[in-house]
Amino acid sequence: MLADLHCHSLKSDGQLSPTDLVDRAAEMGVTMLALTDHDTVNGIPEAREQAQKHNIELVSGIEFSSVWNGIGIHVVGLGFDEHHPDMKVAIARQESCRLERAKTIAQRLEKQGAIGIWEKAEAIANGAQIGRPHFAQALIEMEKVSNMAQAFKRYLGAGKPGDVKTMWPDISEVVGWIRAAGGVAVVAHPDKYKMTRTKLKCMLKAFSEAGGNGLEVVCGGMEASFSRRMAEFCDEFGFMASQGSDFHGPRPWSELGKFGKMPEGVTPVWSHWAE
Ligand code: AMP
Ligand code: MN
Ligand code: MN
Ligand code: MN
Repeated sequence: MLADLHCHSLKSDGQLSPTDLVDRAAEMGVTMLALTDHDTVNGIPEAREQAQKHNIELVSGIEFSSVWNGIGIHVVGLGFDEHHPDMKVAIARQESCRLERAKTIAQRLEKQGAIGIWEKAEAIANGAQIGRPHFAQALIEMEKVSNMAQAFKRYLGAGKPGDVKTMWPDISEVVGWIRAAGGVAVVAHPDKYKMTRTKLKCMLKAFSEAGGNGLEVVCGGMEASFSRRMAEFCDEFGFMASQGSDFHGPRPWSELGKFGKMPEGVTPVWSHWAE
């Protein structure tokens, strides 16, 4: 059994169609998969159909954008009812948040000399949930930067003109949507927030109080020592442990199904669905 419960397709900022993504997951030996596109479930029906062909168990998934104390936090929802009315309303709201934010990003980047970037980024997104990676690609095509890393470093990363995150809902609200739809709410990639241990614990406490019940203990690129610390937090807060690659495409991203080992003693999130 190999579960990968965090990855992206063309429906947000991933590079593969849901069908190609599922084929690749099968090649990598994945037996349980959650497609967790940013703020959309549009790829799930196609992924589910393809997963059946490979006998892969497809768990419904999404990666919601939120804020806690002014810091952008990603919350993965797993195993929820995609057709729950609260979920539908929430996703529509996130979608319009993304669109508004994208327009603000475009205005700010135009001021930096990237004239016409809105049209370019929109064409690159091609109907997907538009995000900063689409702007990064546009900046590359406009020859403002030479690669993704540079685009984030100069224009889109924390504290840069294109970093617009305050439009996102509070983490507690996002947790509420997922739980209302019967899903497990999971803090994504806790190693990516550059928080001190104290601050991370404070965020996890707020998340837990809001009904959050899962934590990514293993994620593509996460250090084993960090995973062990997250396992301790699972014990302390009663969180279920999740794992996933956060695959977006072939290189430089982590491969599907490739990540560290889950530490001993945790309750994996999939044991919840087996009951
Ligand atoms: P957004 O959802 O619009 O806030 O964009 C965030 C996404 O940008 C993440 O999910 C990653 O896929 C990508 N990303 C964030 N930081 C970087 C980086 N330094 N280099 C490349 N991609 C990044
Ligand atoms: Mn992404
Ligand atoms: Mn994320
Ligand atoms: Mn992700």
